[in-house]
Amino acid sequence: MTPSQSSSEPEIPSVANAAGLLFAEQYGKEPSWIALAPGRVNLIGEHIDYNDGFVLPMAIDRYTAIAASRSDSGHLRIVSREMSEPIDVPATAIRCKGQPDWSAYVLGPLALCAQRGLEVGSLDAVVASDVPTGSGLSSSASVEVATATLAEAICGTQFELMEKAKLCQMAEHRYAKVPCGIMDQATSTAAIRGHALLLDCRSGSYQQVPFSDPDVAILIANTNVRHALADGQYAQRRSECSSALLKSGADSFRDLTTADLEKGSGQMDPVEWRRARHVVGEIARTLAAAEAMRACDWNALGTLMYESHHSLRNDFEVSCDELDAMVALAEKIGPAGGVYGSRMTGGGFGGSTVTLIAANRADAIRERLESEYRQKTDIEPTLFTTRPAAGSFLARGGAEGNKSET
Ligand code: ADP
Ligand code: MG
Repeated sequence: MTPSQSSSEPEIPSVANAAGLLFAEQYGKEPSWIALAPGRVNLIGEHIDYNDGFVLPMAIDRYTAIAASRSDSGHLRIVSREMSEPIDVPATAIRCKGQPDWSAYVLGPLALCAQRGLEVGSLDAVVASDVPTGSGLSSSASVEVATATLAEAICGTQFELMEKAKLCQMAEHRYAKVPCGIMDQATSTAAIRGHALLLDCRSGSYQQVPFSDPDVAILIANTNVRHALADGQYAQRRSECSSALLKSGADSFRDLTTADLEKGSGQMDPVEWRRARHVVGEIARTLAAAEAMRACDWNALGTLMYESHHSLRNDFEVSCDELDAMVALAEKIGPAGGVYGSRMTGGGFGGSTVTLIAANRADAIRERLESEYRQKTDIEPTLFTTRPAAGSFLARGGAEGNKSET
């Protein structure tokens, strides 16, 4: 992060040019619009989005770009640089049936936009992305939000930010059949460069928390494992949390403190009690983390990240050996080596860790984690540093793109 990067003016990511070039190759013309939306990483506040909690994610500087232009084919023809099968559906009957699986993330938002009167009509389009897929960085939300941003540009209108996020979340529920919370789509939509987003999952409101100190950076380390039990365990955690809440007698985990939980713990079985302790503790940690960030107190933020990891490992039981190994290796480097804190991020049972580091040590830390993790697990990890990036925006087009084509 550098001081100039704290501005909210987005730079055009290179993947926008890649999408434009691929579009020209594919269709022999220039795209009228290029829309972009980022992936995200959650800094703290894990497994509490569905428990009325707070989350503190930021957009990463990895984007999905969608380049498009009107056509007279009567169809939506969409190719993705990352996928082998193209989408081809009649523009007036947007359905995923018979289309490749990835169509849910593009046709879902387009179908919901159409239901709200934003008909994109007959289009040629290309998707290109540098958000890693399936690593817990929400490539899915970036595709959805980029698509909704394209629809806004084509139709010359704009949703309110959270309305757009909710539309994309609904697309993921209905078309991709993934019962996700609002965090990913809200971050990909509403993030501001140089800020994290403190999102209240009970009210849907959010605050932009400045996070642009040039001396710190975020290191994302994908363990490159995903244990098969993740989906079943997610559903189980949700049901354990709701039965714990019921037994607590409160309407919301937000109304409880750890001391309240201790008083009512007789009602809960030991598993429910540990789940509840994670949720209540993590809500408090997330608020404290936002305060530490505002104060640029990186040691305090780092300590909260470790505490979050330990709670996810011991009380919520969603970590795994590889995530624990990556966090332990980072912790071993410690503040003297430039590591302030580290934790698993995302649902767990594999995926990535997020580590708060001193920016001037980034290369050394990355290389050391890479080699020590490889040595310990025999698995090749993927690591990169990032900074808080801007939410969705248009790199080309808008009302002019609309006019020039009609
Ligand atoms: P993630 O954690 O990355 O969001 P998901 O499983 O939720 O993982 O979403 C990944 C899915 O999103 C892919 O399987 C694909 O269907 C869609 N997707 C992601 N990136 C692209 C892309 N570049 N082009 C087309 N579809 C994509
Ligand atoms: Mg996803």
